[in-house]
Amino acid sequence: MIYDSILIRYGEIALKGKNRYRFEDRLLQNIRDVLKDLPKIKVIKTFGRIYVELHGEPHDIVIERLKKVFGIVSFSPVKKTDLDVEEIKKTALQLLKQINPFPKTFKVETKRPYKLFPLSSPELTYEVGAYILRNTENLTVDVHHPDTVVDIEIRQEGAFIYSQTIQGVGGMPGGSSGRALVLISGGIDSPVASYFAMKRGLQVEGIHFHTYPVTTEESLQKVLDLAKVLSHYSGSFRLHLVPFLEIQKEIKIYAPESYNITIMRRMFLRIAERLAKKRHALALVTGESLGQVASQTLESMYTINHVVRIPILRPLITIDKLDIVEVAKKIGTYEASVRPFEDCCSLFVPRNPTTKPKIERAEFIEQKMEVDKLIEDAIQRTRTITITPQDDMKAKDVLFTDIKEFMK
Ligand code: ATP
Ligand code: MG
Repeated sequence: MIYDSILIRYGEIALKGKNRYRFEDRLLQNIRDVLKDLPKIKVIKTFGRIYVELHGEPHDIVIERLKKVFGIVSFSPVKKTDLDVEEIKKTALQLLKQINPFPKTFKVETKRPYKLFPLSSPELTYEVGAYILRNTENLTVDVHHPDTVVDIEIRQEGAFIYSQTIQGVGGMPGGSSGRALVLISGGIDSPVASYFAMKRGLQVEGIHFHTYPVTTEESLQKVLDLAKVLSHYSGSFRLHLVPFLEIQKEIKIYAPESYNITIMRRMFLRIAERLAKKRHALALVTGESLGQVASQTLESMYTINHVVRIPILRPLITIDKLDIVEVAKKIGTYEASVRPFEDCCSLFVPRNPTTKPKIERAEFIEQKMEVDKLIEDAIQRTRTITITPQDDMKAKDVLFTDIKEFMK
């Protein structure tokens, strides 16, 4: 293959003034992480740019991975040559000939940040364009609407030639904004919320409350599969599995049905806040969207939110369901999300959940429960796993160890 490296562009982070180097280093590290199983690859930063040097590794695999790295605005597979006009001409032609389908029209564009190069930009553009025309058939120049642009960049370290620009996901490099814990269910919303949080540079870890064995292995498998899809965007995804069955039983005993969900979610948040402290995370993230269900009215959120002080980020709060679904499809979580298995909440849906739960009433109910002990116990039995794009984690194995540990 003709390409020998990939040029990475990262617009937004260039704007961040003093933080720029920190962001660049993080991006560099994240790119290295997603390519670490390709040993010959070198990811380098020179002259304020990032290049992935292929050294014979397959460019198509690298391209697919780079499409999921936050912080990359766009990138181009490039061929680097010496600053030699003959070599530049030959390479440009070779690169153009590889384009499939073969274009009818083209133009050459030259940038020349390295001012000591003997030809001016228009001169080099002319030289290369004329050479390509002499050595091809059925190809003409169109400066306004060409099928293909051959880009040449003359830099001190060499000439970079490319003809393809691939869109990146944008956003901020993962981890550059700190760490948050996302409450992740098997539904459509929370994986999308995770994605948005990650896209703004948060390093995200998941918390999932499960009620195995009352809910099935498959319902946990869904969450593992979702975590795996998300891990493609971050290199790996840490997931905390919190056993919630005991708490749910208590709620069933002490709470009136209309308050089941309110109390359950207050318990979610208390546990999540404790885990966040343990993991040095400064925020929680949920998939809540205003008005979607009874527990997502303002009154509900007010009463539920009251039990914690940690900030709760709700990336989807003002987004319509149809738009959320669209993102879920685009990022690849939709398929697993709509698989029909129940999670701990769907087994727990009261016929008449209150849309206006009151703090005083919730507190009154909780006085009858051993809240602190229940939380402590759930945290003690929480199991943490790390999911990567490479391995296939099976719920069966995860749960088996969980139960073994529980029996000890
Ligand atoms: P989702 O599609 O993410 O399940 P939802 O619209 O079904 O969201 P709810 O079931 O009311 O909404 O849950 C609201 C949010 O609470 C979820 O987006 C998620 O962040 C969190 N949540 C719900 N169930 C669980 C669970 N079993 N474990 C962890 N977090 C959960
Ligand atoms: Mg749900």
